[in-house]
Amino acid sequence: MILVLNAGSSSLKVEVFTSDLTSVLSGAVTSIGTDGAIKLGDETVRTKTANHADALAQMLDALAHAGITLDKLTAAAHRVVHGGTILTQPARVTPQVIAAIESAIPLAPLHNPNNLAAMLALQAVAPGLPQYASFGTAFHATNPAVATRYAIPQTEHDAGIRRYGFHGLSYAGMVASFGTALPARLLALHLGNGASLCAIKDGRSIATSMGYSPLSGLTMGTRSGDIDGAAVLRISAALGEDETDRMLNKNSGLKALGGDNDMRSLLNRHDAEAAFAVDHFCYWAARHAGSAIVAMGGVDAVAFTGGIGENAAPVRDKIMAFLACFGDVPVHIIAADEEKQIARDALTLMGPA
Ligand code: ADP
Repeated sequence: MILVLNAGSSSLKVEVFTSDLTSVLSGAVTSIGTDGAIKLGDETVRTKTANHADALAQMLDALAHAGITLDKLTAAAHRVVHGGTILTQPARVTPQVIAAIESAIPLAPLHNPNNLAAMLALQAVAPGLPQYASFGTAFHATNPAVATRYAIPQTEHDAGIRRYGFHGLSYAGMVASFGTALPARLLALHLGNGASLCAIKDGRSIATSMGYSPLSGLTMGTRSGDIDGAAVLRISAALGEDETDRMLNKNSGLKALGGDNDMRSLLNRHDAEAAFAVDHFCYWAARHAGSAIVAMGGVDAVAFTGGIGENAAPVRDKIMAFLACFGDVPVHIIAADEEKQIARDALTLMGPA
C-alpha cells in the first residue's frame, strides 16, 4: 500500500492506495499548531498537535489502529507545491531532492517547509520506507520559454521571477484519466477555490494561466487573478506588503465582488452583486481560455474539473457560451484526484513489483 501525504499550511491530509490505485482510507489532521482534530475514515477525534511532525506521528498511530501499520506500506508519496526550476518531474526523495525542495522555499514559503517536515519526520520513524515526491509545478515544465518568461531583465528571470504554473497534479491526473482518448488540443479548466486553466497539446502543458504564484490568471474565490503590477505597487505603498498580500490573496476575487467566496452560495442568490461576481468569474475564465486556445492553434475538447468545474453547470454553460465562437467543442467533466496522481507517480517510479 502507498501512503499519500499532503502537508498544507495548517493541515496534513493522507490517503492510502493499493497498488492498483484503489483508495482504501483517507483522513486529515486539521488546525495543526493548536486545538484541532484528527479525522480518519468516518471517525473524528479532537486533538492538539504541536507541529507537522507531531501531526504525522498522531496520524501514523491512527492508521495503525485502523490496521495500516508502517510495515504494510511499500512507499510514501508527498505532494510538494513548488518544485522550482530543478524539480520538473516526480522524484524519489533523496538528500539531493530534499536540498532542491529547500532551495524552492522562497517560491512557496508557506508550503514547502511543511512538505519537508513531513518527509523528514517520516524518515525518522520509518528509515527504510521509500519516499517519493510529486510537484504541483512540474507538469508545466514543458511550457516554451516565450510562455514562461516575463518581459523583464534577465537578472530577475535568473533570480526565479518567471511563470511556473500550478494545479499540475490535477492536470496530469486529467491526462491520465483520458488515457488513449486524450484529445490533441485540450483546454483544461481547474475551477475550485483556486482556479486556473491549461492548454494541453499532445498531453503536454504548453501554456497556463497562473504564473510566478497562484495569484495570477482567472478570478478566484479569494484571489484577484490578473492585476496590473503598477496597481499592486500603489496598494502596497499605501497598505504595506503584508496587508497587500492579504488583500490580493484572501480578500479579493469572488469574495470582494460578491461578498462570498463560495460559488454555490453565489449561484443560489439572485441579487445583482452575486450575479456580477459570477459573470466576472466566467468572463475572465473565457478571456484566458481564448489565449490558451491561440497557444494551441485551436481546440478539440474542453475539460472541467475542481469543485466549481465539476458541479456548477451554470458556470460551465456561461464559459462555453463565450467559447461558441470556436465552434461546437465537446465538453468533459473530470473528477479532480490529485492524491491518486501522486500515488500513480510513485508507482511509476517504483517500477514493476
Ligand atoms: P479547493 O480549491 O479549496 O480544493 P474545491 O475544488 O473544493 O476547492 O472547490 C470549491 C468551490 O466549488 C466552492 O466555490 C464551492 O462553492 C464550489 N462548489 C462545490 N459544489 C458546488 C455545487 N454543487 N454547485 C456550485 N458550486 C459548487
